[in-house]
Amino acid sequence: MAEVLTESSQRQLRSELLTAVKALKSHVTNRDKFAAGLDWEKTEPVTKNIKVAAQNSESDLNRVCQDMAGCRLCPLGKTRHNLVFGDGNPQAKVVFVGEAPGADEDEQGLPFVGRAGQLLTKIIEAMGLSRQDVYICNILKCRPPQNRNPLPEEILACEPFLKKQLKIISPRIICALGTFAAKTLLKTEVPISILRGRFHSYEGIKLMPTYHPAYLLRNPSAKKLVWEDVQLIMKELQN
Ligand code: URA
Repeated sequence: MAEVLTESSQRQLRSELLTAVKALKSHVTNRDKFAAGLDWEKTEPVTKNIKVAAQNSESDLNRVCQDMAGCRLCPLGKTRHNLVFGDGNPQAKVVFVGEAPGADEDEQGLPFVGRAGQLLTKIIEAMGLSRQDVYICNILKCRPPQNRNPLPEEILACEPFLKKQLKIISPRIICALGTFAAKTLLKTEVPISILRGRFHSYEGIKLMPTYHPAYLLRNPSAKKLVWEDVQLIMKELQN
C-alpha cells in the first residue's frame, strides 16, 4: 500500500533531495576539476598548488554542508524549506557573516538574495569586489519563523558549523553584519553602535562589525557609517 505523505513531509523530502543533488553535482565537478589539475603538474607547479588548495577548501566546505543536510539539532530544521549554508569563493579574503536566512533565502537556499541581499551586493561592488570574490554566510543556516530573532539555543546548535566554515576559508577579514553576528562571533554584549568602526579579533582574524543591510533599509542615514567601515576593510586588504 502506497504511503501518503503530508505536505510538510513532501517539502522536507524535496529539500533533502535538493541538498543531495547539489552535493553530488559538486562532487562530480570537483572530481573533474581535480582530474584536469593533474595536467598542471608539469608546467605550472605554483598555479597548480593554488588551484588544488582552492579545490580542497571547496570540497572541505562541501563536506561540512553535507554533514548539515537533514540537520535537526534545533527545531528550525523542521520549518525550513532549504538549508542556507553559504555562497561564494571558498578561498575568499573577506567573509560576510549575517544573522539568518529570510523568506527569499529559505526559498532559494542561498544567502542574502532578498532586498537586504541586493543592498549587500551593492556594498560589495562599491568595494571593487563581486559576490564571487567574497564568501557570504549566516550565523544560523535555517530561517527562524516570521524572521524572529535567533534564539540562544539555535545559535549554540549552529555555531560549530560556522566555526568550521571560517576555519576552512581562513579569510583575512570577517565583516560581521549586525548585532547577532557581531555579538556571537565576539562573545560580547556590547552594542553594534559601539563595536563598529574598528577591527576586533576573531581567532586571530581581523573582524569588522558593521550595521546589517536590513537596518540600512530602515535607516538609510547609517549607510555613511557602513561605508566608513568597509573603507577600513578595503584599506586593510591593500596591506
Ligand atoms: N538577512 C541575513 O542576515 N541573512 C540573509 O541571508 C538574508 C537576510
